[in-house]
Amino acid sequence: MIPVNTMEMLMEFPSLIVQDLNNFHYDGYISICKQMYRFEIKVPASRRLSEASVNCDWRLHKLIKDFKTVIAQRLRQCENIVSFVKELQMIAERQLEDENKDTPESSKFCQQLISHIESLGWERLVFIDQSFTELHVQYMDSGNREHIMKLFIGNQYPADTPKCSVELPTKFDLHWTTQSELRDAYKQFTAAVDSYKEFWDVMSEIDTNTWVLEPEKPTYSARHRRIAISASVSVQLTVDPTHPRALPECKFLGSDQAIAPVRRSMNTNIHLWDERKGLLENLQTLLDVKFPSPTNSRKEEFSVECGICYAYRMESEIPDEVCNDTRCGQAFHKTCVIEWLRALPSSRQSFNTIFGNCPYCEKAMTVKMIVK
Ligand SMILES: [Zn+2]
Ligand SMILES: [Zn+2]
Repeated sequence: MIPVNTMEMLMEFPSLIVQDLNNFHYDGYISICKQMYRFEIKVPASRRLSEASVNCDWRLHKLIKDFKTVIAQRLRQCENIVSFVKELQMIAERQLEDENKDTPESSKFCQQLISHIESLGWERLVFIDQSFTELHVQYMDSGNREHIMKLFIGNQYPADTPKCSVELPTKFDLHWTTQSELRDAYKQFTAAVDSYKEFWDVMSEIDTNTWVLEPEKPTYSARHRRIAISASVSVQLTVDPTHPRALPECKFLGSDQAIAPVRRSMNTNIHLWDERKGLLENLQTLLDVKFPSPTNSRKEEFSVECGICYAYRMESEIPDEVCNDTRCGQAFHKTCVIEWLRALPSSRQSFNTIFGNCPYCEKAMTVKMIVK
């Protein structure tokens, strides 16, 4: 481990002067609430930050003396000297502000929160902001996936329920009582994460073995996958997170003629679905297709660009309006083809449908204007 990025150190703490060629030893001043305090940090030859020695003047020592365990913990976890000194500075600033304000309430808040972080375990905390109001805690599930819960702590903590943000496929409500603390929130979060293990296993099987056209970067909350079947046909799956091995909702995209055979196979084979088998294996049996995968094809073969704007992705839209003539089968963005057809005097509109001609082959084409 390289203990310091010297440029960053210089920018953040210009008054800490490097004392050796290895950049292991710094001595000088750090600013806390615009006052300068003497500070020294020395990392031993082992390069381990956790073994570093820290010296500071008595005023700074007085400010941080109640936070010795926290500081020792941060020394073990921080990536480098800069981030450690920043955290120490943050703790001291917070403490000094409290002293200056002489508001015991705010200090009590801080003390209590820190003791709750301690009982949660500092190693689970991956981020905390300077005002101690936003915390990110981490959980690695048994599939080695990293999950983060963001907690927003109000100044009435723990009386008020913290707000939280998580990435789960269903809604997550934190159950909070006056007795609750951070570790209770964490327990609920990890239990929820564990309950979706099978769902994420199924989704990652799809993601590694097929070409996912949508979403571009699936999140843990995404239940949809649009996967390529051929250059002009794809299927959008909606997987039930509580029954991920059940037959997902399937919506086929492509021209009517092109998707007719897969629809037919699905209707014929629907009784063959077997929840003991994998979702992809089941789908391939049902649709009587073999999904193109990264091992036998390139993604560009399936992300066919729009015949009007020549791009594939347009904001969140991809070309899914396809000419119904199989010899043409050109795909367009809905927005592009609607704009095109509306500009032509030969097109006509009835309610939400536009009747016109394909910009490519001039065969009749109808486009529904309902925006998804
Ligand atoms: Zn377009
Ligand atoms: Zn056409």
